[in-house]
Amino acid sequence: MSFAKLGLSDSILKALTDSDYQKPTEIQQKAIPLILKGEDIIASAQTGTGKTASFVLPMLELLNNGDAVRGRSIRALILVPTRELAKQVDTSIQRYGKNLNLSSLAIYGGTDIDADKEKLAKGIDILVATPGRLLDMAYQRNLFFNDLEFLVLDEADKMLDMGFIDDLNKIIDRLPSDRQSMLFSATLDGKVRYLADTVYSDAVEVKV
Ligand code: AMP
Repeated sequence: MSFAKLGLSDSILKALTDSDYQKPTEIQQKAIPLILKGEDIIASAQTGTGKTASFVLPMLELLNNGDAVRGRSIRALILVPTRELAKQVDTSIQRYGKNLNLSSLAIYGGTDIDADKEKLAKGIDILVATPGRLLDMAYQRNLFFNDLEFLVLDEADKMLDMGFIDDLNKIIDRLPSDRQSMLFSATLDGKVRYLADTVYSDAVEVKV
């Protein structure tokens, strides 16, 4: 199995070769074709399995084939529990998307919100955010979701453990319903299963 066989285009394949990725990991082999087909997925995958690339790569592919960003409405939202993960996911987006003309930004609490506002005003395709900072931005009308095509909840179990359920519901309520959604979590039981069932009615389940 190769990345090319999964349906990714040359500019992304080139970035993977530059990163010295020889072949897709198990979660990448399972998730990438489903996401490229437009499916919603809920996936159980631990950190270290290559889960970040399993949603970033197909999203880059699909966004690259779509229309450019307009104004303050983002096209993809990746929600994560911590600032460390936000930075890490944004670094992966920059790395895999370095040959594409897509913009990304990571926002999280504890930093100068005005600097983030300025960056958002320039137009961002992919936003990686912690739930609290995302809501602040949306309430202050610095961010809109009219053109949102993709939602990812990354490390959903950790977000619930950290008490983000109310924030997540408030955010999800504001998003267009005709989006493609993905959820990644170390476990898919209890509270995560309930969240997955409410947010993703027809999702395909992926396990590694
Ligand atoms: P993650 O599970 O997303 O935190 O990724 C774990 C690590 O694996 C990261 O350092 C990635 O850069 C690396 N990685 C992801 N996919 C591959 C791959 N197909 N081949 C080699 N390394 C990879």
